[in-house]
Amino acid sequence: MTSAQIPDVVGLLCDLVALDTTNPAGNEAGAAGLLADVLRQGGFDVELDEVAPGRPNLIARAEFGSGGPTVMLNSHLDVVPAGPGWTSPPFEPTQRDGRLYGRGAADAKGSLAAMAVAALGLLEEAAGLSGTLVYTAVVDEEVGSTGARRLLTDHRPDAAIVGEPTGGRLFTAHKGSVRPVIEVTGVAAHAATPHNGVNAIVHAAQLVELITDYAGVLAGRSHPLVGAPTVTPVLVEGGEAPNAVPERCRLTLDRRLVPGETDRDALVEVEQILERFNAEHAPAQARISACAPSTGGPSETPADHPFVVACQLGLAGAGLSPELGGLVVNCDMTHFRAAGIPCLVVGPGELEVMHAVDESVALDDLRCGVRGYEAILRELLRHEGAWWR
Ligand SMILES: [Zn+2]
Repeated sequence: MTSAQIPDVVGLLCDLVALDTTNPAGNEAGAAGLLADVLRQGGFDVELDEVAPGRPNLIARAEFGSGGPTVMLNSHLDVVPAGPGWTSPPFEPTQRDGRLYGRGAADAKGSLAAMAVAALGLLEEAAGLSGTLVYTAVVDEEVGSTGARRLLTDHRPDAAIVGEPTGGRLFTAHKGSVRPVIEVTGVAAHAATPHNGVNAIVHAAQLVELITDYAGVLAGRSHPLVGAPTVTPVLVEGGEAPNAVPERCRLTLDRRLVPGETDRDALVEVEQILERFNAEHAPAQARISACAPSTGGPSETPADHPFVVACQLGLAGAGLSPELGGLVVNCDMTHFRAAGIPCLVVGPGELEVMHAVDESVALDDLRCGVRGYEAILRELLRHEGAWWR
């Protein structure tokens, strides 16, 4: 493939955005097929691995000679629902004011497009490189991460770079979440005689105040890259009938975890609050009855890990900022770290536009993303390199 044949990153991103991969249901096959064609034409060995019907992971591999590391590029094909209120149709990519608008422009098709163009550029000018580059585009990151989980059952790279909008900065840490569902129980009675009952909704409201106090305690803690952990009530449902004192009220919390915290730590803290509540509010009682699904825990790669240092060197060599940061949301990095693989997150686009109406990416940032990925990969696959040894 000559550089004339390497696709323009803006055109490739437009083609990806035009393929609606809203999850649920995903329907990622079209976008995976498009990237498969582009990478195959550029000399990659391409495999589509069906995770669910019509939902394949794309795995594209290129060898740069023996002795080097295996580096994986990873991002996701699915997008969150567009919702109403868009200025231009979310799946008709539109350019205005130096930006490309459309669902997934930043999260994360911008990363997929920039990674693909950088990977093709590397294969075109491969002198001085060794090792293996594996480009992966997975399904279902936004809902259950079934794509990344499947990918990691039979791939074990020396390191991985996950593409998400970080404004082009290297993020070596991200938050996780756990979502306890709290069941508050009271005593049912006729609504005409509320004094004969114990109103579960009223007591749940008082519990919300204790959770607000807990949020204040969390705000006083801090992780250097992702900031403070948080907790906030996200769902409430209660009552049985319009003429009855409610016996039950269910309250779901979203608790964001920072690296160093576990699900268990956070749940124990909530249980301690409930113990106090139960002592003061008997016969009303509250307990954690379940946990609602979440993407998973927080993770971090140490800032002084040789892989991180090599990525910083690559960016600095290209005149880009090697400064480290952290992601306040979750992403598939958690699955790479759980498998013991050094990993960081970097990609074009700003965090603020993720999942928002009129999602967009600046075209300059997108092109800068290609340069950044290529610079990082050239450092990681440099023939004389040693970070993975
Ligand atoms: Zn994403």
